[in-house]
Amino acid sequence: MPLQLYGKRKNSSGLEFGHRATLDRLMGSISKGIPAISATPLIPGVAAGGADVPVISPSDHSKTVGSIRNATAADIDKAFAVATKGFKAWSRRSVEERASALERMADLMEENRDRLLVLLAAEAGKTLDDGVAEVREAVDFCRYYAGEARQLFGTVTKMPGPTGEDNRYLWRGRGVFACISPWNFPLAIFLGQVSAALVSGNAVLAKPAPQTPLIAYEAVKLFHKAGVPEDALLFVPGGPDVGAAITAHAALAGVAFTGSTKTAWAINRALAAKDGPIVPLIAETGGLNAMVVDATALGEQVADDVVLSAFRSAGQRCSALRLLFLQEDVAEHMTQMIEGAARELQLGDPALETTDVGPIIDGKQKAMLEAHIADMQKTQKVRFAGKAPAGGSFFAPHIVELDKAAALTKEVFGPVLHIVKWKAKELPKVLQEIEASGYGLTLGVHSRIESTIRTVTDALDTGNIYVNRNMIGAVVGTQPFGGSGLSGTGFKAGGPAYLQRFALEQVISVNT
Ligand code: GLU
Repeated sequence: MPLQLYGKRKNSSGLEFGHRATLDRLMGSISKGIPAISATPLIPGVAAGGADVPVISPSDHSKTVGSIRNATAADIDKAFAVATKGFKAWSRRSVEERASALERMADLMEENRDRLLVLLAAEAGKTLDDGVAEVREAVDFCRYYAGEARQLFGTVTKMPGPTGEDNRYLWRGRGVFACISPWNFPLAIFLGQVSAALVSGNAVLAKPAPQTPLIAYEAVKLFHKAGVPEDALLFVPGGPDVGAAITAHAALAGVAFTGSTKTAWAINRALAAKDGPIVPLIAETGGLNAMVVDATALGEQVADDVVLSAFRSAGQRCSALRLLFLQEDVAEHMTQMIEGAARELQLGDPALETTDVGPIIDGKQKAMLEAHIADMQKTQKVRFAGKAPAGGSFFAPHIVELDKAAALTKEVFGPVLHIVKWKAKELPKVLQEIEASGYGLTLGVHSRIESTIRTVTDALDTGNIYVNRNMIGAVVGTQPFGGSGLSGTGFKAGGPAYLQRFALEQVISVNT
């Protein structure tokens, strides 16, 4: 069922929304806000101690969305004891039962969509467009993995063997999985990890990003309502101390992590040092994502795709465009168009229909972006700086012209587009520069020449390559998402191999 917020236009003369009532209800609940949520860890048998920490809205620092009481490192030991028991019972349920729970979860999210959109706007600063896409993605993950699980876990393959022997090959869950998720997709990525781990028969300790615990809390409660037992899905909010207690635990059977490359390295080292089973890490990390545009590309399309890829979601996507390579002959003309389009973007309250760009997640991230621009001003040309509203952690789109690609040395997670020019015949050099970053998440190409497109796509191992379109918003089951090198381990989220990483094979040989 597609998520239809606005409905159809009734006639060509104006915007007459077929589903005006839905929109009004949504706008009403956003303007009234929702009652503040008091979230606590959900660990059966463990009373939540600790203090309630307020969760402040990034778009209005005078507004509190609710409060979070974090788990402690000592709670984690108890959580593992509960989840280890929970795993035994949950993993022995039929795949049909587990898959049906995911589908009920998808239905529940659709029924609670308005509330989720309000929360996404209030806690994560998501615009309505982004919020709708995020709920859609979360629903898609549940339905897609339910289908994939029925295939993978529902199939017992009879292997060839000698007469008198029956060899059966099958897949099972691994044990207690940790799902450690980021603030930039507090519902979709959180849900993607958790649903994949659960449907594969694992118990889950879910640790959301400290910036966005309330949406995750609501999602865990919906999962329980959908029929996932409380001892199979535990909510363990907290900071790095909680993360470290989880990744050092001997009973841990696997980790799904999305976040920075630096944290992925730290988790990998912790897993290598811990006792107990030798476990996989599924990491989706950063990117220094480039787009290559040659002189044959269509200017208007490039401008549209660049603005969407670099500035929408305030550039707070791993997939977002950071480094734009424009062929010299068209560079000035295209930069002017991009700048003009960037100037038109509306910044402000993410809950307003008219807003294109919401806030940065918090003051720390905003300060990082300001420091980057101050740094760029010393040696490069800051060509465009938009105006940010006051009252929240807003940071407006910026365009920086670089004298060489190597001037950008790190992923800058926000609405900052860096442009570098290249000369005709220098495509191989451009490709080398992209490869030299070590990242390989997304790549855009704009060209009308088949052989140029082939040269680029053949040369690089980047996980997701987008040709003559924007480079964000991978669709579950259509564009499985994830990178190579510094950008992650694979397997791709929303793809046909993902669940295998959450599972183990087993062979049963019977002498008949
Ligand atoms: N899957 C998202 C996209 O294609 C990005 C996910 C992320 O930012 O981690 O835009």
